[in-house]
Amino acid sequence: MELARRMRSIPPYLFADLDRKRAALRARGGDVINIAIGDPDLPTPPHVIEALVRAARNPATHVYPPYEGTAEFRQAVAGWYERRFGVTLDPDREVLALIGSKEGLAHIPWAFIDPGDVALVSDPGYPVYAVATSMAEGRPYPVPLERERGWLPDLAAVPEAVARRAKVFFVNYPNNPTAATAEISTFDQIVDFARRHEILVVHDNTYSEIAYDGYRPPSFLQARGAMEVGLEFHSLSKTYCMTGWRMGFVVGNAEAVQALATLKTNIDSGQWTAIQAAGVAALTGSQESVRERVAVWERRREAAVAELRAAGLDAPLPRATFYLWVPVPRGYDSVGFATDLLESAGVAVAPGIGYGRQGDGYIRISLTAPEERFREAMRRIRGRLEAPAVPPGR
Ligand code: PMP
Repeated sequence: MELARRMRSIPPYLFADLDRKRAALRARGGDVINIAIGDPDLPTPPHVIEALVRAARNPATHVYPPYEGTAEFRQAVAGWYERRFGVTLDPDREVLALIGSKEGLAHIPWAFIDPGDVALVSDPGYPVYAVATSMAEGRPYPVPLERERGWLPDLAAVPEAVARRAKVFFVNYPNNPTAATAEISTFDQIVDFARRHEILVVHDNTYSEIAYDGYRPPSFLQARGAMEVGLEFHSLSKTYCMTGWRMGFVVGNAEAVQALATLKTNIDSGQWTAIQAAGVAALTGSQESVRERVAVWERRREAAVAELRAAGLDAPLPRATFYLWVPVPRGYDSVGFATDLLESAGVAVAPGIGYGRQGDGYIRISLTAPEERFREAMRRIRGRLEAPAVPPGR
């Protein structure tokens, strides 16, 4: 069978070996705790499920949904933006429903990238930005994020010739995988940069509601002039523990929203109206359930960081996201340390190299495993690191 050339732009799956080892361990009856993926272990709030059930009984939801999302969903998004960020949106021109934010993000290059055009992506970063760019025959240019700069992009380091050819800049704060956060001042600089080079900013705000110590992450659209140059993506997946439901949305510059809507009209037929009704309940109902869920991850975060630090790892306390971005011990690279934790402690973590070259000195731990399992994973990691001779990386 001959596959399309673009299939070759999908990078080799770096963790095939690690996955095989995990499967083999499990097949031998080994007890592996998976803290590698960011998929909330807590259930969707009951009032959201009720809204789905009610809507599912209504035959009006059994037909194709409107392409751009239901008017109720788009109005709920606009209302939420006003309350949460003080940003006013026109629900008819500046809001579009998505089948999860990944769907919308992956389609962005198809609407804005011609073959050979550059998309700026952060390294480390959520892999979809670069892969989707390559799929559209664009060229992802990795903008390095470094710990010394708080994992914020160094715009001055982007060569002029690259910036000139760039059409899209993917930005993501609170950040996966580093858990870094950005303030409006950073977004202001990104708006200036985007204006100068005529670049569309695509800000992925999937983790805006997963924040601790009372911190409220801002919207990119709060930066002056952002509406002229940018889009912002959101997801109901993490905020309302709805990863399986596939509901997200994009807001921002009307022309860019319309371009993505036109593309999508030709590819998909939107998310089920009953799920959109559940989304309305999530966005307009009490946000107490969000606070409760975030409080659970906040407690886990503190316990985990304490354990990891006691074990000698330099684990920073994240202000947002449910990820810990932890430097690997000396002598290891990220795959070596992840393999060691899997084989010697039965704990699966995500090696940082999966998010880009700059990620190689780190592992990503997700706080989304059930309480007892999570604590057990931390005990095991500590036990492994306190063992007399930790073998060096392989
Ligand atoms: N953006 C980021 C940064 C993510 O981490 C994820 C999920 N891991 C997504 C987007 C996609 O979320 P969803 O498609 O479930 O809305």
